[in-house]
Amino acid sequence: MPITVKALQKTGHDQPFRVTTIERRDPRADDVVIDIRAAGICHSDIHTIRNEWGEASFPLTVGHEIAGVVSAVGEDVTGWKVGDRVGVGCMVNSCGTCEECRADQEQNCLEGNVGTYNAKDVDGTVTQGGYAEKVVVNERFVCRVPDEMAFEAAAPLLCAGITTYAPLRRWGAGEQVAGRAKRVAVLGLGGLGHMGVQLAAAMGAEVTVLSRSLKKEQDALALGAQRVLATTDENFFRDHSGEFDLILNTISADIPVDRYLRLLTPRGVMAVVGLPPAKQPVGFGSLIGGNKVLAGSNIGGIAETQEMLDFCAEHGLAAKIEVIGVQDADAAYDRVVAGDVHFRAVIDTSTFADVAAE
Ligand code: NAP
Ligand code: ZN
Repeated sequence: MPITVKALQKTGHDQPFRVTTIERRDPRADDVVIDIRAAGICHSDIHTIRNEWGEASFPLTVGHEIAGVVSAVGEDVTGWKVGDRVGVGCMVNSCGTCEECRADQEQNCLEGNVGTYNAKDVDGTVTQGGYAEKVVVNERFVCRVPDEMAFEAAAPLLCAGITTYAPLRRWGAGEQVAGRAKRVAVLGLGGLGHMGVQLAAAMGAEVTVLSRSLKKEQDALALGAQRVLATTDENFFRDHSGEFDLILNTISADIPVDRYLRLLTPRGVMAVVGLPPAKQPVGFGSLIGGNKVLAGSNIGGIAETQEMLDFCAEHGLAAKIEVIGVQDADAAYDRVVAGDVHFRAVIDTSTFADVAAE
């Protein structure tokens, strides 16, 4: 029997959220049923809902930063039991057999992974995300949430955490260069950026935050940054040319990429995770001079997501959050876009109990 649960749904890109009911599939033998306790609001949810990445498949429930408790398991499930504290991120399935899946890079599955929402599931239905009371997921796409982490602070790690951890690791943020710590700049201090700062600092990098203003300076220093620079300062690009070994670009909007590439050292790397709706022009000259690297990064595999969660637990890190009720989701979207949230809005899903389903 399918499971009926309350969920926050949009019926169109310009429609408000409404609390309604959706159906989760009858768990298959290798599925886990999760009672969702917290769901983070990622800017990708907003790009999707607002049709900024193309037409979304409405009616739609988004959310891919999910934390909760296992409430049932299919008969073949070996990794999980009822009561386990778990999380689900941006993927809920993949082929499991291609080179990428076998290398624990399910995000790059050659058959295409199944996204947590707005994606075609293996049964042909459109997947529905985590702004809901429960989710049913293949057991391979579930991670363990460390005991010491509150669900609300853990949920954003499932996307913002792994999306920043993977490129910081891949590009050696914690390694020394010329006998000193790497100089890592985190560009944009939102949900992803604030995890990037904490993770890079914990890895041993010297971290600078590049933000539009100094408004978030105190918070940034508390997260582990050594300093904050305002990118809107008249002399910003001139004064900081050639300073950074690695720039983690988390910006969700248009920026002058060429000018930011000039902030890199020779052989420096800009790892891009922010995905603004419009194409961003880049001059090859900005890369060729100084042998620079412009690299993309797409979330991370499931094993690396677990590694990141354990790394956060070991270093006492988690997301800094603003907990909201289901009624506040529309207002939270506007605040995220305005860059006002410190630093992730997270839906307390127990507040579904306060609202009758339409
Ligand atoms: P967010 O919380 O809104 O943070 C984005 C930050 O970008 C803001 O805090 C702001 O930083 C800066 N920003 C926003 N508008 C700007 C503008 N017009 N000019 C300059 N800077 C601006 O978003 P998020 O959830 O961290 O997501 C960031 C981006 O990453 C989104 O595009 C999202 O879709 C993408 N994403 C990608 C992946 C992946 O796998 N690659 C995964 C998740 C998310 P300041 O206020 O500090 O200036
Ligand atoms: Zn996300």
